[in-house]
Amino acid sequence: MTEDKLEKIRHSLAHIMAEAVLQMFPDAKLGIGPAIDTGFYYDFDLPRTLTPDDLREIEQRMRAILAQGRRFERQEISLEEGLSLFAAQPYKLELLQELPPGEPVTIYRQGSFVDLCRGPHVDSTEEIPADGFKLLSVAGAYWRGDERRPMLQRIYGAAFLSGQELQAHLKRLEEIERRDHRRLGRELDIFSVDPTIGAGLILWHPNGAIIRLEIERFWIDEHLKRGYQLVYTPHIASERIYQISGHLETYADSMYAPMDIEGQPYRLKPMNCPGHVRIYQSRLRSYRELPIRLAELGTVYRYERSGTLHGMLRVRGFTQDDAHIFCRPDQLKQEVHGVLDLTLYMMETFGYTYKAYLATRPEKYIGSDEQWEFATESLRQVLEERGLAYEVDEGGGVFYAPKIDIKLWDAVGREWQGPTCQVDLNEPERFDITYIGEDGRAQRVIMIHRTVLGSMERFIGGLIEHYAGAFPVWLAPVQAVVIPIADRHNEYAAHVAARLRQAGLRAALDDTDERMNAKIRRAQLQKVPYMLVVGDREVAGSTVSVRVRTGEDLGAMSVESFVDMALEMIRRRAQV
Ligand SMILES: [Zn+2]
Ligand SMILES: [Zn+2]
Repeated sequence: MTEDKLEKIRHSLAHIMAEAVLQMFPDAKLGIGPAIDTGFYYDFDLPRTLTPDDLREIEQRMRAILAQGRRFERQEISLEEGLSLFAAQPYKLELLQELPPGEPVTIYRQGSFVDLCRGPHVDSTEEIPADGFKLLSVAGAYWRGDERRPMLQRIYGAAFLSGQELQAHLKRLEEIERRDHRRLGRELDIFSVDPTIGAGLILWHPNGAIIRLEIERFWIDEHLKRGYQLVYTPHIASERIYQISGHLETYADSMYAPMDIEGQPYRLKPMNCPGHVRIYQSRLRSYRELPIRLAELGTVYRYERSGTLHGMLRVRGFTQDDAHIFCRPDQLKQEVHGVLDLTLYMMETFGYTYKAYLATRPEKYIGSDEQWEFATESLRQVLEERGLAYEVDEGGGVFYAPKIDIKLWDAVGREWQGPTCQVDLNEPERFDITYIGEDGRAQRVIMIHRTVLGSMERFIGGLIEHYAGAFPVWLAPVQAVVIPIADRHNEYAAHVAARLRQAGLRAALDDTDERMNAKIRRAQLQKVPYMLVVGDREVAGSTVSVRVRTGEDLGAMSVESFVDMALEMIRRRAQV
């Protein structure tokens, strides 16, 4: 009920905003103005670019309109009436002309403002809480999302049922802004994108490289423990392989242009699968060898439009944590169980909560109905056997595969695309991938594609936001910084730092001339988990005074006790 009411309020505010914009820009051309999850927006074609001052003025005018009061009146008119009413509004005319014949044209009036609209709306502005909304930002948006059409200015507003709810939402937006991985990535010296290198291509700085290395080690260890075999495949490959795989047919838009090598066209690798398939096919495989699990931290390159690139989250070159499992039909369920054991364990280690989705056959698909039934049922049974809560994403599979998708929620409750596990019904046929069965005859193999992290870039970008840059000890680029109180403690401090490094910890020494408090503040800004302060007392007792990033004071302890504690936190991959 309140959902409906809130949606009406949000949509009505979009109309009020349009009325206010028309007061300021009588020649404004109006696009569309729907309610969205947290408020509303409206797209305008305006004679000039809006400034923050404009936004404030529009909001003031909206408040003035609300104070005057408006009634929203619905009216049905004929197409002819509509065409003349909106004669000066080309975008509205375009929408009118696309209405299916016979569909009634509905308009809503409030005061002198009239909009082509299906509704619904509140009856009167009295229903809109005046302190429950705020205009937030302006962004460019192509008319109908089509980059060949005009770029309009989209004004976003937030709207809730009360001022309190609005404030809570604004606080959350601030928190998300504070966690932005592009800003933290710069402040913590994790990565950069250099326009002279190219858009969408990530440069991993030493701090980012350490985080990545630790995650890769964790990933590799877990895979080896679970019977995966590591492989490496080249970054370029002859176009022939993508003809066989079908990527040239269905995926060419995402691939970079061919390069000529001795008259043969080669491509940058967009997927790791073909390489893994050819390793599998490098000799005959017996049913006894299966399952074969080939894993690779494989770097791929895919074309993304420059407008869609976003820090580490949307890039043009990235390293997938990829693996392909080749198995017999009777092994499929057991393998999917293994994939879920691994993925859920890793997601829990990083502190994500998650939910599983079973994505079933889409309208357009290849493969037989029996194959789809077998693969989808196997995935479903695994989810049921584990007692894992899941939702069915009806028709959400890819055209060649049903899949299990895991969605993640981060520390601020945002949803991320997580691990995925697909049963491929295409490539085993296209590549004719087989094993020799017990009867000595070639049998069709079952092929699973799966990623846990997705890509190192996207995952670590998300992780920066999830942890707000405060990485757990095992991932922190610097795990402990030793802070001498005065110059005379520098020698002992250097000795402590050396001992920590010898124990395998990433330790730094801050022997700058600054005061202790400034050093502590700097370490806190750099989100170093442990600060070890050493002064006269510590030198005399061969101890360190341990402060945690969170502000907690663990007091004085011997260097060895600190080493043991830190190594134990690292072993448990615990958050401090
Ligand atoms: Zn409307
Ligand atoms: Zn694959």
